[in-house]
Amino acid sequence: MSERLVPVVCPYCGVGCRLYIRSVDGYPVGIEYAKDIPNISNELGKLCPKGNAVVEYLLAKDRLKRPLKAKEQGKFVEISWSEAIKEVAERLKAYAKDDPNQLMFFGSARTFNEPNYLVQKLARMLGTNNVDHCARLCHAPTVTGLKAVFGAGAMTNTYKDIEEANVIFIIGHNYAETHPVGFRYVLKAKERGAKVIVADPRFTRTAWFADIFLQHYPGSDIALINGLIHVIIKERLYDEKFVRERCVGFDEVVAAVEKFTPEFVEKVTGVPAELIIEAARTFATAGKGVITWAMGLTQHTHGTENVKLLGTLAAICGYQGKEGAGCSPMRGQNNVQGACDMAALPNVFPGYQAVTDPEKRKFFEEFWGVELSGEVGLTTVEAAYAADKGKVKAYYVMGENPVISEANANHVMHTLEKLEFMVVQDIVPTPTMEYADIVLPAAAMLENEGSLTNTERRVQWSFQAVKPPGEARPDWWILSEVGKAIGFDKTGSGGFVYNDAADVLREINACTPQYRGITPERLKENLAGLHWPCPSEDHPGTRVLYKEKFLTPSGKANLAAVPEYKGPVEMPDEEYPFLLTTHRYVGMYHTATMTMRSCALKKRWPEPLAEIHPDDAVKLGIKSGDWVKVVTRRGAYPIKAKVTRAVKKGVIAVPWHWGANVLTNDALDPVAKIPETKACACNVAKI
Ligand code: SF4
Repeated sequence: MSERLVPVVCPYCGVGCRLYIRSVDGYPVGIEYAKDIPNISNELGKLCPKGNAVVEYLLAKDRLKRPLKAKEQGKFVEISWSEAIKEVAERLKAYAKDDPNQLMFFGSARTFNEPNYLVQKLARMLGTNNVDHCARLCHAPTVTGLKAVFGAGAMTNTYKDIEEANVIFIIGHNYAETHPVGFRYVLKAKERGAKVIVADPRFTRTAWFADIFLQHYPGSDIALINGLIHVIIKERLYDEKFVRERCVGFDEVVAAVEKFTPEFVEKVTGVPAELIIEAARTFATAGKGVITWAMGLTQHTHGTENVKLLGTLAAICGYQGKEGAGCSPMRGQNNVQGACDMAALPNVFPGYQAVTDPEKRKFFEEFWGVELSGEVGLTTVEAAYAADKGKVKAYYVMGENPVISEANANHVMHTLEKLEFMVVQDIVPTPTMEYADIVLPAAAMLENEGSLTNTERRVQWSFQAVKPPGEARPDWWILSEVGKAIGFDKTGSGGFVYNDAADVLREINACTPQYRGITPERLKENLAGLHWPCPSEDHPGTRVLYKEKFLTPSGKANLAAVPEYKGPVEMPDEEYPFLLTTHRYVGMYHTATMTMRSCALKKRWPEPLAEIHPDDAVKLGIKSGDWVKVVTRRGAYPIKAKVTRAVKKGVIAVPWHWGANVLTNDALDPVAKIPETKACACNVAKI
């Protein structure tokens, strides 16, 4: 028997904590904190409940071990890998020959950079840009919003800068529960004397640590942020030198926020005017400030405008381009940043190079040796509607679970039924797999190796600690086999012939400017990882972006003016008198396919609870523990009630891990195409 301590990256959230797996002959027997690796978790010597329970889902009895073929919906027979690959390749090739845009590919934020690179390469070499992944449902507005203001869509700083800030504004982000180890940097800053401002429709665990808590109505962010900017401008608290030298559009912002007086904002958001003034003064006068946000801010039809306003707020206070300051969107899954960087997106090639740019397209046409489409592809929600109309006929779904994760899930299920062909590549059975024609069993992250990129642009290598079960195979291997079977069997960048994940990363280095110096050799040597951009092999990586100039064409920040207040597209009315919002639990992870296979986590977080204010509960005769039915225009969801003052009167809050997206609205932000999962009208009644 040989026991090894294998360094891996936690497969759950975007914080990217390191840990060791204790592995005996490829079998996981426990974990160790990786205190010797200078990384996020290790400086603090902590993991959160999910990280501590990381081994359990690997040992789940129902892991997918062999390729499967559907006999009828939801009933499968085992087939060999060669049969599975042959059938997948032939079907994909046939659709591509007829019309490549009949195909839709899903990348995954739950697997490494290398398979995300390969899945988009496969889509593009087959002739379509129809490739997307769950970033569409979480941080798409962060990318579109920050790109508009600063020229690029990533976190502008690192955890170190959160620790060094004098004020931290947390909006739409239950930081303490969604990114628990990252939140400890907020606490470290607070111990130093930093002020914490929290804005959230729920009184969350994060709110317990706030010096100022702003409880606004779901979807009223534009008014709240414009109100803060209004006070900062009226009281001349902004950084005049920074605005003059490094920003454009200030006059338009001044005009746009004119009507967002604290009194007006109080009416729209429900936040007292004096708190808005106090928050604005505290934020603008701190000298060094960080803004952090998550899905509470982005999952709206005006998500892009929300993010643009946050970028504007940071810029007018001079909180860009220096240590201890910046914009810190917190990515949910552990490789959302990487899946975006690798271009599991319909509009860009790797490194955010637009598919519509003829020069970039020419580069990739030469690099991959095929003609490429310059037409922007479909996003996840658009693909569902195209499938409904019969325009998209086949899905290749790698490590995603749209039946639970997508808004308006009943519609998603309806469209999956209409598909002619669907491949699901995953580690365990999911509700989405019920609709698959072919199932390809994948090795989990800890059974596999590769690079991944956390929320602060830190790229790390995770080593294989555990043997995959049965015939499960790494994602990169599966895609490589499919690519070769289709006929992309040349060696070099024009084919899919790879020996290992490191081979794929070397190809990524050659075509992705931000990753040029992030070689597998450097990552394996330096377990703390490297922050992109890292343009050459002797470059140390970049902690803070925009020290000299922004990446906009002018080099200056484009301040955003949003003069009109926009709330959720669906507001309460007589039939649906409540405003529904969704949230997450610390011990559950996204669609819960991994965490529900941990006895420890399931025992502590066994079921979802719908939060309802005591005054509403009295009117409806509801007590904590009663079964209620939450209903919207799209579906109904039975759930137990929790009567609590954590939500405002008129608001219902439900966690979404268990399937609450049957309720949510798939109306889209017109720019980022994210659905408005965070706010819609609902009704609730005791069952
Ligand atoms: Fe894993 Fe995130 Fe918890 Fe760290 S904070 S242990 S990365 S789930």
